[in-house]
Amino acid sequence: MPAEPAENRTPSATPPGTFRIGTIAGSDVLISSSWFLVAGLIAVLMAPRVEQISPGLGAWKYLVGVVFAVVLYLAVLLHEASHAAVATRYGFRVHSITLHFLGGVTAIEGESRNPRQEFWIAVVGPITSIGIGLVGVALWFVTPEGLLLLTVQGMAGANLIIGVLNLVPGLPLDGGRVLKAAVWGLTGSAVTGTTAAGWGGRLAAVAVLGWPLLAEEIFDQPASLVDALIAVVIAVFLWTGATQAMTGARIRDRLTGVVARDLARRTLTVPADLPLAEAVRRAQASESGGIVTTSPTGAPLGLVDEAAVLATPEERRPWVPVSSVARSLDGGLRLPVDITGRELLEAIQRSPAGQYLLVEADGGLYGVLATADVERAVTRR
Ligand SMILES: [Zn+2]
Repeated sequence: MPAEPAENRTPSATPPGTFRIGTIAGSDVLISSSWFLVAGLIAVLMAPRVEQISPGLGAWKYLVGVVFAVVLYLAVLLHEASHAAVATRYGFRVHSITLHFLGGVTAIEGESRNPRQEFWIAVVGPITSIGIGLVGVALWFVTPEGLLLLTVQGMAGANLIIGVLNLVPGLPLDGGRVLKAAVWGLTGSAVTGTTAAGWGGRLAAVAVLGWPLLAEEIFDQPASLVDALIAVVIAVFLWTGATQAMTGARIRDRLTGVVARDLARRTLTVPADLPLAEAVRRAQASESGGIVTTSPTGAPLGLVDEAAVLATPEERRPWVPVSSVARSLDGGLRLPVDITGRELLEAIQRSPAGQYLLVEADGGLYGVLATADVERAVTRR
């Protein structure tokens, strides 16, 4: 189960398609609606076996399957809670734990600061699952025949499988984060660690795709359509998860080198009551990338919004003041010129806008920063 960084999440907002069922140690526990589909699927798949063990249950046999699904996901919840507990111990904020059809995700804010943190936050999940699985195996021997034994067997088997499969060394699986931590520790570079573990995840995705064909050879039985379909879903999950992790790491790496001062556009200041047409003419003549409106005393008042200028018909521009297309500087549009990297990104996320005013430490105007320029700096190859 991947323990993901959550950068763009608003705290306490429940994502679409999920239900909040409670909290564990301060983090929300969410259930994706896809879970109900899985619970139904498990109920249907298990019904014949339930019928075999306890004949005559009628429609109640499906309830056994639903109870089984709940028990299974309680184990997944424990797995995720262990990620959350270790992350919290290291001082990270854990937003939520979400249970979905392929398991669970723990949304942790921020990135591990060193390989040791990365290793322990990741490895505790599979350890927890394997631990529960072994408890299940022990109970197996002392549980009497019947539906309870079926549940214990299922719990033991499912947890051992979840624990072992999550140790596969490829992102987005926990084993991928363990591999990332190891490569990070050896090379000193978190990005190199993520790249190695990302390729591990892609390799695992290809291997999963090939599994039905291999199984055909081994068991000498044609692979069913369902097997092939499950393989494709898991392979896509692995491949996209690995690719997202790799892209995210590259962007974060590039982000650290982004300095607002270097990206500042040449800026024109104009009186707020100047006609828009004249302001645009002056901006073009001086090759300015941003227009700031000022009060009669010269204090900056607003930032001219490029989109609003373009939306104003040319024939109207001589008749409207430039201030009519300017956005007030109140509300986070004033940024210190020396802001960089992650802080810059967070400032943009807090107050989304097309442009920001960059000011010197003494309050003096330095220039205008366009969000598009920041995006370009972060995503360029
Ligand atoms: Zn996990």
